Amino acid sequence: ERKQLNRLRREPTRTRDGVDIKLWANAESREDIAEAHGLGAAGVGLYRTEFLFLGTHEIPDEEKQFNAYRDAVLGMTGRTVTIRTLDLGADKSDDTGLALRDEPNPALGLRGIRLSMSREKLFEIQLRAIARASAYGPVRVLLPMITSREEVLYAARLFDRVRKSLAEEGVAVAEHIPLGAMIEIPAAAIALPTFVSKIDFLSVGTNDLVQYLLAADRNNEALGDLYTPLHPAFIRMLSDIVRTARKAGKPVAICGEIAADEAFTPLLLGLGIEELSMHPGSFLQIRKAVREIDHAQLVQSSRALARAKDRASIMRWLESRTA
Ligand code: PEP
Ligand code: MG
Repeated sequence: ERKQLNRLRREPTRTRDGVDIKLWANAESREDIAEAHGLGAAGVGLYRTEFLFLGTHEIPDEEKQFNAYRDAVLGMTGRTVTIRTLDLGADKSDDTGLALRDEPNPALGLRGIRLSMSREKLFEIQLRAIARASAYGPVRVLLPMITSREEVLYAARLFDRVRKSLAEEGVAVAEHIPLGAMIEIPAAAIALPTFVSKIDFLSVGTNDLVQYLLAADRNNEALGDLYTPLHPAFIRMLSDIVRTARKAGKPVAICGEIAADEAFTPLLLGLGIEELSMHPGSFLQIRKAVREIDHAQLVQSSRALARAKDRASIMRWLESRTA
């Protein structure tokens, strides 16, 4: 099995009928980056920056952040690195004092873009570090926990300002740094048509999108089957996101855990997803699943998927795809 997978190391991630699927890496450590690079990742689709803020009492300064981001960019040798701005919340054990202590509902609290907006100086420092890293290779900026157009516009304006002042200081910065939004809160998915023109790309965070859509804690085992992407509301939401993005000509990737689960590959591709971001440890398994797919046939049968009325019919659809 492992040997068979290893034969795919140098093969393209292409369906039987020739549709190329982009595999991005969820990576942050040097090892992840090296593995992603070796396995032919299109780039890093999700570089979570929280790790710089965890297990330390000090908020990392611009230099420390810049060094980490530049190393990731250099490690990918010319392939794009998508750096997500800080998504720290009271659920993460942070000792920097940034995240509020004892929020009654940390998942619904001051985290992601909300925390960044409430600490503008800190946000500015992170954006400066990212912009500086862009002088070493292609970089994209990804905003977590977006709910509205206002938040996107705020971040875009601040990022413009940051780049202008770096230019005035004579610091090298890439000409173009795409700005994207995580679609992981139902409000963002529903309101996407109001701000899709303001972003360059989207990344669907299905871990949180499922949690917030179904009011089901992503870490609560007691909920059993309630936390699941196999809900008609989720299928419809995902299908709408893809349609809106496509109409606007904006690339859309999935970066939640389901991207790394081959059981979901036909579902995601059937709904029109052509970019998946996951830990590189899952690349070969997903590449194998993609190579077994007949894309045209899948898209045709996905009409039934969008009409599914319950979990059982979604599961039946999935089973008939992999039979
Ligand atoms: C997600 O919510 O799906 C996601 C990729 O982000 P995180 O797991 O870091 O919340
Ligand atoms: Mg998330």
